[in-house]
Amino acid sequence: MDPSTDRLHIACPDCRRAVRVPTHRLQQSPRCPACHTALLRLEPVELDDAGLEAFARLNDLPVLVDFWAPWCGPCRHYAPVIAEAARKLHGHVVVVKVNSDTAPASSARYGIRSIPTTLLLRNGQELARLSGAVPTPELMRFVAHHLAGPPG
Ligand code: ZN
Repeated sequence: MDPSTDRLHIACPDCRRAVRVPTHRLQQSPRCPACHTALLRLEPVELDDAGLEAFARLNDLPVLVDFWAPWCGPCRHYAPVIAEAARKLHGHVVVVKVNSDTAPASSARYGIRSIPTTLLLRNGQELARLSGAVPTPELMRFVAHHLAGPPG
């Protein structure tokens, strides 16, 4: 594949259309041509049911989803880990947060039984999930392990 012409679809966090971005521009703060918002952000994108459905379907980049709720103590402890993941994975993985209280359809669709639960999605399909709050290095290993191709 020629990296100079390779393009990925990135879902706009605001208007939620899919924008084609050349892969070599992923690190250059690409913006949505329609609403001019930053497509890739250094902080997690907060999504509702409709937003997660669109993000999971439209993004060619993997999507890391933190299912959380405001009343959940471990979720609050985990929030800085997810925020750091958004910075570390910027341009490679789209990091989003879904409040399970206000996104019941997403919780049901992905069978979320406890929070925090972290899902790794690619092209709308679940690659892996992680239950509970983990430290940043463990989350990074989880992502790297599941995004790496098969050995060889
Ligand atoms: Zn937009």
